[in-house]
Amino acid sequence: MEIQYQVPLKALNTFGIRSVADACVTVKETEELPALSGYTPKYILGGGSNVLLPAHVHGLVIRNELKGIRQTADQDDYVLLEVASGEVWHDFVMFVLSKGWSGVENMALIPGTVGAAPIQNIGAYGVEVKDVIEWVECFEWDSHAIRRLSAPDCRFGYRDSIFKQEYAGKSFITKVCFRLSKKAELNTSYGAIESELAVMGTDHPAPSDVAEAVMRIRRSKLPDPAQIGNAGSFFKNPTIPLAQYETLRETYPDMPSYRVDDSRVKVPAAWLIESCGWKGFREADAGVHQRQSLVLVNYGEANGEQLWALSERIVDSVWEKFQIRPEREVQVW
Ligand SMILES: Cc1cc2nc3c(=O)[nH]c(=O)nc-3n(C[C@H](O)[C@H](O)[C@H](O)COP(=O)(O)OP(=O)(O)OC[C@H]3O[C@@H](n4cnc5c(N)ncnc54)[C@H](O)[C@@H]3O)c2cc1C
Repeated sequence: MEIQYQVPLKALNTFGIRSVADACVTVKETEELPALSGYTPKYILGGGSNVLLPAHVHGLVIRNELKGIRQTADQDDYVLLEVASGEVWHDFVMFVLSKGWSGVENMALIPGTVGAAPIQNIGAYGVEVKDVIEWVECFEWDSHAIRRLSAPDCRFGYRDSIFKQEYAGKSFITKVCFRLSKKAELNTSYGAIESELAVMGTDHPAPSDVAEAVMRIRRSKLPDPAQIGNAGSFFKNPTIPLAQYETLRETYPDMPSYRVDDSRVKVPAAWLIESCGWKGFREADAGVHQRQSLVLVNYGEANGEQLWALSERIVDSVWEKFQIRPEREVQVW
């Protein structure tokens, strides 16, 4: 394990932000972690697809290269897989599909590592990773203990978990155990999956067909970080009281919503941001994507401060117009 100094991070974050870390180390074995616990501050970097970096990261950046997939149970209707946290999420999805198992097909092509997936409970096309997680294992920096948190212990919520709350910064996720179904229970009702399957001419889809449909839709809709720097959705969809929504509907009758429960609704942040006129906005190299107003983009040399300032302006304008404050999904270092 070799610590390097003054390490450029531009190629290691999907925003493509020019940033330099004071120090950086790559971890390949869980046993290497105790030796790093004394460093403060320290930052864990997976695929860098959900972070907004400052020009200088003052501290130690720990790159995660823990690898390995192990099958630990094989039952009539499911298997259990223990997956090291540094595995690439999409490669893991492809591995599952190659075996004919299901559960993660709707989350194909989400960038990043397996270890980051539980942190914000990644989700796409009607499925969240919590639906297939048995437990998450992490190394606690303070106690040096390896802890296993069951799915309920992880307190998963919408783009949320204990790892963004009480456990934030306190541990390194080392492994995730997934329960994958041997009997395809497909979820094709969300978004354009059904129509894409029809275009593909697939009447009786297998999990791999659903993944293919999802990948086609994602490629047509989402900006590719290799072409233009971004971190996917910058904001979460805000949840507001039903009463507030009903009042807003009097002024904005076309405001979309999804019921969360009897007293709350979720409002698409994209609609709120677009209604404030931000879609396609650009100032210097920081902007809002032309087709996806949830996605902030770096046209080349935008820095973290500029993207943050733009996000502040967006939040303020949405607050002023709707008295709703969109929360950031991206982790700001
Ligand atoms: C084009 C694009 C599309 C996207 N689409 C989706 C989508 O559909 N759904 C969705 O939910 N998300 C989406 N995202 C967001 C992103 O892919 C996920 O949040 C992903 O899980 C981030 O993984 P990562 O390895 O890149 O994490 P990083 O960006 O490297 O890290 C994110 C945070 O987690 C912490 N962290 C990372 N690994 C560990 C670990 N092992 N232990 C402890 N802490 C850790 C980091 O310190 C950081 O604070 C998208 C992003 C992009 C760029």
